[in-house]
Amino acid sequence: MNEEQVAKWINELIAIDKLHEFYVSKEWRHLRKAVLSDCKDECQVCKAKGFYTKANHVHHIQYVRKHPRLALSKTYIFQGKEYVNLIAVCKDCHENVCHPERLKHKVVEPITEERWE
Ligand SMILES: [Zn+2]
Ligand SMILES: [Zn+2]
Repeated sequence: MNEEQVAKWINELIAIDKLHEFYVSKEWRHLRKAVLSDCKDECQVCKAKGFYTKANHVHHIQYVRKHPRLALSKTYIFQGKEYVNLIAVCKDCHENVCHPERLKHKVVEPITEERWE
């Protein structure tokens, strides 16, 4: 599949609200495995901070919904330079560092004594 075909496929899945089909596809599972092994199963965000955590997620730097054509690309070109598009990360970094936008929905209400008065 070239980028054009990937974009078409992803856009179709988004249109019918079935993007999860991408994440269970043979193509993605294959690529995901390759990225994890390229990164030696190490979380790249933790690694940058100097400690080791096992990675079990692969994150798209260029979000799939925003850049469907890059869904199956390990790298992308921006202004003539090549950048990494897929990185291995641990669950915590994936949620907290890669997708802070998702955290906004999780409103943690502090449980204080006053609440129960
Ligand atoms: Zn991490
Ligand atoms: Zn992600």
